[in-house]
Amino acid sequence: MWSVSKVYGSGAQSVTALNNMTTSFRAGTFTAVMGPSGSGKSTLLHCAAGLDRPTSGKILVGDVDLSTLDETQLTLLRRDRIGFVFQSFNLVSALTAEQNVALPGRLAGKAPSREQVNAALAEVGLARRGGHRPSELSGGEQQRVAVARALISRPAAVFADEPTGALDTKTSRDVLALLRNIVDRHQQTVIMVTHDPSAAAYADRVLLMADGRVTDELYGPFTAES
Ligand code: ADP
Ligand code: ADP
Repeated sequence: MWSVSKVYGSGAQSVTALNNMTTSFRAGTFTAVMGPSGSGKSTLLHCAAGLDRPTSGKILVGDVDLSTLDETQLTLLRRDRIGFVFQSFNLVSALTAEQNVALPGRLAGKAPSREQVNAALAEVGLARRGGHRPSELSGGEQQRVAVARALISRPAAVFADEPTGALDTKTSRDVLALLRNIVDRHQQTVIMVTHDPSAAAYADRVLLMADGRVTDELYGPFTAES
């Protein structure tokens, strides 16, 4: 057992964001985390991704127990084995799609080859848009660039925080299908926080959260609503 708690602050000001909850994320599966605002979804995602540490307990992502890692190991893990996708894309507006995809590796001193960048863009259906800047791409295309950027290092796990929050229905589905495809083709682990009920159709498992706990766990296949 590895009950996880996360308490922000201390004393009268403290907030319990995760309250002795238990869960783990199996390698090669796609989990959607859902629940009302303030239920602890972002905190769970941050702790699972090694961006923040639980106050107690441990979270297993695949075979990795982050609680055993020191800061240096966590930094390397985030760099080499984890990809992130955000609601707001977080692309650098002055850089082309290719440059954005190559940026994390470049910053880490391991710039990807042109072939790797092209392959990552092709995988998200943007083979011919590599020279375009974010302002020349639609929201869905920008998010696909962000997915390519998250994938280029072939991370074991991809964490997505409301990846479709800024997209319309059709584009949302494209992005979700991409994430589904990643899991199926490369056995990568995807953990996604979402408010979008139709997003659940793409996941293997839905974790429902309330008040810092998992209140229900649903297993797919879920039928997509149309
Ligand atoms: P969700 O993502 O489901 O909206 P969060 O994980 O963001 O929930 O927040 C869970 C609880 O923890 C909320 O009550 C929130 O206000 C609180 N919280 C989140 N981050 C912090 C922080 N850095 N400091 C203090 N309280 C926080
Ligand atoms: P979301 O749930 O949409 O991901 P956030 O994670 O930004 O939203 O914030 C969730 C809640 O956590 C909000 O109520 C916010 O006020 C609170 N929160 C986030 N960061 C902090 C912080 N550093 N200090 C206090 N509260 C925070």
